Amino acid sequence: MNSKAGAVRTVPCPACGQDARYAADNPYRPFCSARCKGIDLGAWASEQFRMPTEAPPEDSLFGDPKAQ
Ligand SMILES: [Zn+2]
Repeated sequence: MNSKAGAVRTVPCPACGQDARYAADNPYRPFCSARCKGIDLGAWASEQFRMPTEAPPEDSLFGDPKAQ
């Protein structure tokens, strides 16, 4: 085992894949830089703003069959 107190953990940056310091001195963690963090947040925002627009027309699908 190799346990070092105060060892800085690094994680692969989700945006570019480089090692990012997962520590308090990296405000952009788990990203390596502000640029990578901005890119990822932009992607997330565009995903979340994508709304489902396909709604089945209730009238035609669930009309009263006795009416025919
Ligand atoms: Zn990065």
